[in-house]
Amino acid sequence: MALIVQKYGGTSVGSIERIKAVAERVARARDRGDQLVVVVSAMAGETNRLLDLAGRLSDTPHPREADALVATGEQVSAALMAIRLQALGYPALSLLGYQLRITTDSRHGAAKIKAIDRDRISQALEDGRIVVVAGFQGVNPAGDITTLGRGASDLTAVALAAVLNAAACEIYTDVDGVYTADPNICPRARRLERISYDEMLEMAGLGAKVLQLRSVELARRFNVPLVVKSSFSEDTRGTWVGQEDRAMENVLVSGVTLDQNQSKITLTGVEDRPGLAARIFGPIAESGIVVDMIIQNAGADGRADLTFTVPRADLRRALELVRAVAGEIGAAGVRHEDQVAKVSIVGVGMRTHAGVAATMFKVLAAEGINIEMIATSEIKVSVVVNAKYGELAMRALHDAFLGENPALNEG
Ligand code: ADP
Ligand code: ASP
Ligand code: MG
Repeated sequence: MALIVQKYGGTSVGSIERIKAVAERVARARDRGDQLVVVVSAMAGETNRLLDLAGRLSDTPHPREADALVATGEQVSAALMAIRLQALGYPALSLLGYQLRITTDSRHGAAKIKAIDRDRISQALEDGRIVVVAGFQGVNPAGDITTLGRGASDLTAVALAAVLNAAACEIYTDVDGVYTADPNICPRARRLERISYDEMLEMAGLGAKVLQLRSVELARRFNVPLVVKSSFSEDTRGTWVGQEDRAMENVLVSGVTLDQNQSKITLTGVEDRPGLAARIFGPIAESGIVVDMIIQNAGADGRADLTFTVPRADLRRALELVRAVAGEIGAAGVRHEDQVAKVSIVGVGMRTHAGVAATMFKVLAAEGINIEMIATSEIKVSVVVNAKYGELAMRALHDAFLGENPALNEG
């Protein structure tokens, strides 16, 4: 008897029909003799609908109340799933974050899991129950409901798999695995049999929302066997996410990603002297805004331009902070652009092979796409381009590295 954690995302439980179909799937797994923990997301669109309701009542809903509100989405799904499983004759029990004592810090909307009490869930499993868990939520030390960040039902599933030492964490979604690029944008994308934790981590961080970033981090840290499959098909193959192996290094590029939620800020005429970068980025970091790429080009006159990217959702706040500092340090001006996209290629093979970035630039040049910024790490190259070329760039890079004639992609 194996303990399996299964997670079903929003579209997978998006209607009564879908909940019935998923309950059947869970029932069949149970019939095979497995112990099951089933993590569910809110029904598709529900979290956004709830946030929108709050937004119609206040420009700045208090994060504590916003969490109390959005956590209801997962509560509904968990209860409905347990109700359906019971109707099919299976002993199911729904549990919310606070009932499971998924303890988090108090950063509402982006809380970090501190501890999970195994007793309640272990007891329920020993009693023969299928445990249905509301994903995405926890409770802080004061007893208030917290949520773990968008898409974080994945994180709930991986965290439970880690503490329960599950044989596998199965993420069921609306695509049948991790693809070489988002299959909804790139028609020629292919399902990957396997992908390393490191590659998946980069891809998740660069816009491939098929797995939430922190869930991959946690899976890597605790070596959780993770598989992504479709809840809409009977195909059981999916994509396994795990440790890197030799064969993976022979491929230069495993995936191409597109992040359309970026924006760019430029400070012009910044004096070129020690300490200024710290003055500029200090307040931004303190306010929790994640700065991604940074470029500084020094001019001959001793003044420099500093350009960096922030998530589009944080642009307004970042601009306020930057304008304040710009005044204090005597910068010439502040410009911004919100229509930018970040396109990236990811692959562990880049560690051992040179020239991948140059090939990437050639492919983009052939499409006439101008590169505005470049960033590289050991296993990825990212470029910022005008948003209207984002999808074109993604498809061109995908077809060059991962298309039918993969000559460019052999190490
Ligand atoms: P869920 O609601 O099940 O959590 P998500 O919408 O969060 O599902 O994630 C699944 C979606 O991720 C897919 O529909 C697909 O459009 C998108 N996606 C982006 N990049 C990739 C990729 N490389 N492989 C597979 N899916 C991807
Ligand atoms: N319902 C939450 C969201 O939409 C969590 C999740 O789906 O994983 O972000
Ligand atoms: Mg998701």
